[in-house]
Amino acid sequence: MKEMKGWIFSRTKASREKNGPSDPIQFVSCQFNGSKCVNQRAKINQCLFKSHDSFVDKEYDDSIEELKTAYVATHDILGSPCASCAQLFRTRITQSMEQIHGELHRMTTGFFRWDCYKPSYEVANTMINEFRKNA
Ligand SMILES: [Zn+2]
Repeated sequence: MKEMKGWIFSRTKASREKNGPSDPIQFVSCQFNGSKCVNQRAKINQCLFKSHDSFVDKEYDDSIEELKTAYVATHDILGSPCASCAQLFRTRITQSMEQIHGELHRMTTGFFRWDCYKPSYEVANTMINEFRKNA
């Protein structure tokens, strides 16, 4: 679980470098040595990278869309022997969505709120409820 905490969404560009070349979801444990879930993990990691880039650029809709794609990819291995891997991936994707959601919440409330981000916040809100429901 420690590996998961090292890779975070942040608004600063430097965070990308700090995260380094490591994948958002490291190979932690899989009873099949990743043989069944390796493709999904690669796809989801790619989505998380793209999502983070969009997040840094404040392209929240794109960022949310990438997480959605990543989440859908977990469906492919849900019923397989890698169900626990799918669960781990989902947890990681949900964490990222929570960060986007939190950021949008801050930006759309308060005195200096930016109403232009309201639609993105609504989408993030819907998605995170969906994620939590299936968690
Ligand atoms: Zn697995």
